[in-house]
Order: sequence, then C-alpha cells, then structure tokens
Amino acid sequence: MVVVTGGTGYIGSHTVVELINNGYEVVILDNLSNSHLDVLDSIEEITSKRPTFFQVDVDDRNQLNTVFAELGTSVEAIIHFAAKKAVGESVQEPLMYYRNNVGSLVNILEQTQKHGISKFVFSSSCTVYGQPDVCPVTESTQRKEAESPYGNTKTICEDIIRDCCKVQELTAISLRYFNPIGAHSSGKIGELPVGTPNNLVPYVTQTAAGIRESLTIHGNDYPTLDGTCVRDYIHVVDLAKAHLQALKRLEGSLPKSKYEVYNIGTGDGKSVLQVVDAFIAATGINVPYKIGQRRGGDITEIFADTTLANQALNWKAELSLEDALSSSWNWEKNYRSRKG
Ligand code: NAD
Ligand code: UDP
Repeated sequence: MVVVTGGTGYIGSHTVVELINNGYEVVILDNLSNSHLDVLDSIEEITSKRPTFFQVDVDDRNQLNTVFAELGTSVEAIIHFAAKKAVGESVQEPLMYYRNNVGSLVNILEQTQKHGISKFVFSSSCTVYGQPDVCPVTESTQRKEAESPYGNTKTICEDIIRDCCKVQELTAISLRYFNPIGAHSSGKIGELPVGTPNNLVPYVTQTAAGIRESLTIHGNDYPTLDGTCVRDYIHVVDLAKAHLQALKRLEGSLPKSKYEVYNIGTGDGKSVLQVVDAFIAATGINVPYKIGQRRGGDITEIFADTTLANQALNWKAELSLEDALSSSWNWEKNYRSRKG
C-alpha cells in the first residue's frame, strides 16, 4: 500500500492514476484545502478503482497518529505532495508556509519512524536552484538562497529528509520538479487554480477561453533568445510517471538509508513567447497578449539536465510541449462545460 499525501491535488491526482494503473493500492491523505472531493470520482472513472481517502490535515499530529494506527503495518511507501504552493502568499504569510509545509513533513517523517516505513518520495522543486549561473542545472548545481518562504520550505524539507535518512531506516528520493503543465488525456483531471491564475499556462488557457481579456507577458527585456523568460515545462503525466520510477528504485537494490535527488524536467528550455506560439499552433485558438513589466522575483532562465533521472530512474519525458498545451486546453474546455 502506498500513502499519497496531497493526492487529490494537481500532481498528486495524476500520480494516483499512474499508481493504480500499475497495480498499487493507494490511500490518499488530503485536507482538501486546495482540491475537491470529486477528484476521487474522476480517478475512479479513469482507473475503474476508487482510492481510499482520509480527509486529514497532515499538519495535525493527532489526526495522523489516528490514521496511521488504522493503516498499521500495511504501508510500504509514502509519496508526500501535501503542501501550500503559492509563492506570493508565502511572502505575505511565511509562518503559515513554514508551519504547513515543514510541519507536515516532520509529522509524516515521524510516522515513517513509528511504523517502520522505509520508502519515501518528496515533491521538491527547481526553485531550490534560485537563479542559476549556468544552465542546464544538474543535481550538483549549488542550491541558492531561496527567493521566497515557499522556496525555502523546499530547501529545508530536503535537508530534513537527508538528515533523517542518516539515522533512520529510511530510504528517500526528492524529485525536483521543473514547471509542471498539462492534464490527463481524458480531460477528467487537471490543474484547478483558485481565482486569477499566477502561472503561465492556466492564464493562457483562461485567456483562450475568453475568461481573461489578454495575457500579460511579464517582461521582454531579459537576456534570452526573444527577451522573455525561459523555463522547462514538463507534462504532468510524465512527471507522475517519474514518481513510479522513484518508487521502483526504492523497491530495488538501493542501499538502506540512501537519500537521492533528481531533476524532473524535459531538459529543454522554452521562452514565454514560444509557449504562447506553441499553444496557438497546437489548438488553433488565438491568445491575445500584451507585454508588461517584469514580475518581481522572476528568474531569467532555468532548465534541467536530466541525465541522472534518465539513467538511475530509467525515466525520460516523452510528451511534447504541444501535447501538454493541447491537454491543458482540453481540460479547460471540459471543466468549463461541466461547470456549465
Ligand atoms: P496542489 O495544491 O494541487 O496539491 C497539493 C494538495 O495538498 C492539495 O490537494 C491540498 O489540499 C493538499 N494539502 C496542502 N496542505 C495540506 C495539509 N496540511 N494536509 C493535507 N493536505 C494538504 O499542488 P500541486 O501542484 O499538485 O503540488 C504538489 C506538490 O508539488 C507540492 O508539494 C508543491 O509544492 C510541489 N511542486 C509543485 C509545482 C507546481 O508548479 N505545481 C512545482 C514544484 C513543486
Ligand atoms: N508569466 C507571464 N504571464 C503570466 C504568468 C506567467 O509572462 O500571466 C511568465 C512568468 O513571468 C515566467 C513564466 O511565465 O517567466 C513562467 O511563470 P510561472 O508562474 O508559470 O512559473 P514559475 O517558473 O514562475 O514558477
């Protein structure tokens, strides 16, 4: 049995689908602070299996004690997605972010210790690299001081896991995600931004759908190919599959107490304008845009060297940027039509 915290969220739900499709029994722990219960129906529609669900706050030790006492010794591994992820909000409310993201990790690691759970996968982020001096970044590229409390929670959590692996019967992998985009091909699960989206692709799809008047491109005077920022956009289904490969590695011959870190991206940097053009090419829908000011805290360019994940996890991104963008569009249309 695999416990997935944050399993009704965007990346968690796609990973749960891959786990179920690969024969794993899944238990989701989520407090629904940024997701909805009907995601369980969608997962069931896609996989014909409904994962067990506990509505719990992973930040609450008592609730976790009760759930893990009930699950007993049948938990083989934990994939820990549950976290708050709004960068701007973390700047305004740092304590909320440290409590929720770091506190939850400490609580869940306590359960691994208590119940002898030895396999752990953690959602980290390329935000730990800050603005890198050289691209692509490898896992040994030095981490930089985080740009936000959210980013700092990822750096701190990575270090906590590393320290626990040294003394516990724990073998763990942190996956440093680059920019996850896209949705499941069924159009039944995808990203559900609350309010006005901050991220590029939800803003693009909402503009294409006529919900937003036009996209503002945050600056075109960066030292990049066309002046707009460059990121490594990874299809969420490819990202979900990386978790499966990480689990397989933990189930394999990895020495006890080993802690590993992998970049999960495509290895290909794309500018904001390239994403907009690719969306128009993939969907045939126009996206009106204007050039605005730079957004505070934006990094000029980052993309991954994925050699380590290709080799050690036997994982490689397979889906294209166009695949990801048309799946996002499909999800946006489906979601709007379901909402009426
Ligand atoms: P999401 O908000 O869609 O999913 C997170 C889930 O965790 C939500 O369902 C939320 O309800 C739940 N949750 C939050 N705090 C909780 C708590 N205390 N107890 C129980 N459940 C809780 O986010 P996502 O995009 O799926 O991100 C998943 C993970 O990946 C997070 O750790 C995030 O920081 C990390 N990550 C995301 C991105 C990205 O761009 N989406 C990039 C890098 C890393
Ligand atoms: N971006 C933009 N307009 C938007 C949202 C994002 O130009 O409405 C740009 C943003 O400045 C960055 C890139 O798109 O250069 C990716 O931003 P996103 O917030 O999706 O991801 P980040 O890499 O910042 O986590």
